[in-house]
Amino acid sequence: MHISIQEGRSLPDFQRCTTCCEDFHCPFCASNVFHPAKLSKVQTHLESHFNRAVLYEGYTIHRCALNCKPRFHFHCFYCQSMPTRKADFIKHLALFKAKHSAITPIIPDPSTPSSQIHQPPSSQIQQSPSSQIHQPPSSQGERCKGSV
Ligand SMILES: [Zn+2]
Ligand SMILES: [Zn+2]
Ligand SMILES: [Zn+2]
Ligand SMILES: [Zn+2]
Repeated sequence: MHISIQEGRSLPDFQRCTTCCEDFHCPFCASNVFHPAKLSKVQTHLESHFNRAVLYEGYTIHRCALNCKPRFHFHCFYCQSMPTRKADFIKHLALFKAKHSAITPIIPDPSTPSSQIHQPPSSQIQQSPSSQIHQPPSSQGERCKGSV
């Protein structure tokens, strides 16, 4: 996830610069685009980032002016593309979302079991079929003899 994509209204940690100056840098702008300044000025500048940002799926995607590209741009949530126009970026995201939701129904619903229904109950298999064979065959014939 690129630094310009932040959850909600959160911001990346930014601290007083210790390398090129003693001021604060905008986390979304290169120092030649937004010159490092006092914390209060950076915070005002960040408000303008929020005003121009794209809100998407609970994330705030800020306009990026880091050295990834010579112009202001947005970083895609899904791929490496960096559209410069906000309208193009929103279109681009919508396209990805449509593709994404077309894929999800293929995943099987775990609440419907399918393979374990047709197992035969094990008690029927173990029952012996020969237990009822040994009736004496002669009893019926003797009863008939007396009544005729
Ligand atoms: Zn600096
Ligand atoms: Zn900035
Ligand atoms: Zn960038
Ligand atoms: Zn993309």
